[in-house]
Amino acid sequence: MLQYTTIQGLREAMRSARKAGKSLGLVPTMGYLHAGHIAICETARRECDLVVVSIFVNPLQFAPSEDLESYPRDLDRDLGILSQTGVDAVFTPSVEEMYPETMETWVSVPSLSQTLEGKSRPTHFQGVATVVLKLFSIVQPDIAYFGQKDGQQVAVVRRMVRDLQLPLEVHVVPTVRETDGLAMSSRNVYLDPPARASALALSRALFAGRALLEAGERRGAAVQQAMEAVLTGDSAVRMDYAAVVQADSLVPQDRVQGRTMLAVAAYVGRARLLDNLMLDVGPSGVRDLLTPS
Ligand code: AMP
Repeated sequence: MLQYTTIQGLREAMRSARKAGKSLGLVPTMGYLHAGHIAICETARRECDLVVVSIFVNPLQFAPSEDLESYPRDLDRDLGILSQTGVDAVFTPSVEEMYPETMETWVSVPSLSQTLEGKSRPTHFQGVATVVLKLFSIVQPDIAYFGQKDGQQVAVVRRMVRDLQLPLEVHVVPTVRETDGLAMSSRNVYLDPPARASALALSRALFAGRALLEAGERRGAAVQQAMEAVLTGDSAVRMDYAAVVQADSLVPQDRVQGRTMLAVAAYVGRARLLDNLMLDVGPSGVRDLLTPS
């Protein structure tokens, strides 16, 4: 596995790979890798000739009050995991390499960025969209890989790719969970044992919402209330939101129908956690839209 720290070095390597006819897959990450990241890399490995993983804790997507400084990092461990996973190249730029000057140019997708996460993190998705476009321009991948775990991020990136007609496909990998349901996240490291137990409220809320839909409920407000009841039922969980939205537009659904995302966010201990389920809700049934391959 080759490691690149400069944009120029990675660009040149990608240019030769493309010339040699190789298909390129890009997996953007912020490192501190877990089984969710590995599942994405394995998918990319199956689908592309050359897989590049970027590890970059992107300051543009953190507000000043957020956990940029304390975000978990362990590059040596990450490099070990990636070489075991059969990744070809890893891109680990410094902040100065990615942002040599104050940024004046931003990508924003306002309608999808102001809702859900955007209410607590109003500048988050313009930071995400900007760094993702920058990575796309450096690597020029055929396929870029994202996890469903960050469902709103998927909606924002897909919309950016569509609006800018970027010549690549976005592939989405299902959320990897611990056996008890907790979605894997680098931020789970912030959870002490009691907080780790309380964090299960997020997945339990989603499963309660799905169960209600499976039982035939189609009122969005009723499903939302069922999820809220689970989140507020544990005093160690501070709910941010529970929502029932159309999966692509993120518009709240009064009547639940078609491609639907159930989404929750909550503070548990010092972690802010997210989770979601992507469902296809039909007249007679409910189907998970993404299932592990
Ligand atoms: P991060 O390092 O947290 O920025 O995540 C990098 C990529 O991994 C993003 O596309 C995330 O959505 C994805 N990801 C994070 N956690 C999971 C998970 N539990 N299952 C699947 N993908 C994930």
